Amino acid sequence: MESFEILTRRRTEFVDITDHVRQAIKRQGISQGICVVYCPHTTAAVTINENADPDVTHDILAWLNRAVPQQQPDFRHGEGNSDAHIKSSLVGSSVTLLVDQGDLVLGRWQGVYFCEFDGPRTRSVHVQALVTTTT
Ligand code: ZN
Repeated sequence: MESFEILTRRRTEFVDITDHVRQAIKRQGISQGICVVYCPHTTAAVTINENADPDVTHDILAWLNRAVPQQQPDFRHGEGNSDAHIKSSLVGSSVTLLVDQGDLVLGRWQGVYFCEFDGPRTRSVHVQALVTTTT
């Protein structure tokens, strides 16, 4: 398993980690298989979406922040970050990617994003590739 750290700068933000994941695949020497990108945090997530127009991730984040405001009268969790826990579950803790010819198989406009919902913090991401063989 490969891991890397990222430093988030805002309470909520999407960070493009595509190149980090690509380098992790190359370090594992995988030519063909699948790759799991895993976020080991309860107030963050990972997702795949458009990396051509930054307004797309802006709009996703704006919608999530509007749908789940930080303060709601019925939240009980003492840390005051229940919204971040909810967003983490909504977006998800992992994505699975295809690997072919030693590189990620992504659509032309796709990137892999780390989704920060309770930053700024130093965060970890795990990448595990599984080799598939065909004969
Ligand atoms: Zn919490």
